Amino acid sequence: MTNKITQPIVLMYHSILAPNAPAPGEREAGAELYDVSAEKFRAQLSWLKEHQYRSVTVHKNLDVFSRREILITFDDGEKNNYTAALPLLQEFGFTGHFFLIAKRVGKEGYMGWDEIRRLLAAGMVVGSHGFSHEILTNLLNTQIEEELSASRKYLERNLGIPVESLSIPRGFCNDKILRMAKETGYKYIFLSEKPAAPPAGHTSQPGRSRVAGQAGCFSRVAVKSNWTIDRFAQAMSGNAPLKEKILVSCKNSVKKILGGGAYDWARRMMLKIK
Ligand SMILES: [Zn+2]
Repeated sequence: MTNKITQPIVLMYHSILAPNAPAPGEREAGAELYDVSAEKFRAQLSWLKEHQYRSVTVHKNLDVFSRREILITFDDGEKNNYTAALPLLQEFGFTGHFFLIAKRVGKEGYMGWDEIRRLLAAGMVVGSHGFSHEILTNLLNTQIEEELSASRKYLERNLGIPVESLSIPRGFCNDKILRMAKETGYKYIFLSEKPAAPPAGHTSQPGRSRVAGQAGCFSRVAVKSNWTIDRFAQAMSGNAPLKEKILVSCKNSVKKILGGGAYDWARRMMLKIK
């Protein structure tokens, strides 16, 4: 068996919350499901260290990964990414990849430019998460272009670095958006949750398959607030309980059928079932 794989496990975090720390006000419904406590985050990093995982970033050669290489990503750019996640990443010697909503930089509860510059100085990587967090599949082509391009330019201008990676806001994506993102200059595109099952005939583990066979596209494993360390370990082995697999599969189907607006409503309903 080869030790090389074509996609590493990419973990997707949002908030890392210290005890009694308030979450930002301007958040979407259901965001709290992804609030991971600092205590749980520490236990997860400790587990990764213990099992000899190393974090890598998009700056490495992304064609081939070894099995112990992972990416640790954070969406939305909340302030707790700087105050709570960064010190823990540093303590365990990991590198994080932070995707910022351009319009929310410096807003209450979100990181400001100085904090983001300190992330970069600490060896972390920054990417775009759209300009306003709008669901791209709901927008006209000119608006999609604006979301993709304006966010990139805004971050580049303020930080003085090339922004080469994009995390698709709220996971709504299709081939057109992937193509437009590539045309805008993004080399690496991160999607939300992995597909429920690998395509027929595909033998690798689901978390490790390339999305739609597109080079530079990565599916991610969304770490949830209620995960125990055993559930985390299960995710690292590429497995999810059957109940969750069915739920992800339902979510993906509803996303396709309903599109963004109605999905928000359906999502709230499904989150309740969970
Ligand atoms: Zn987001």
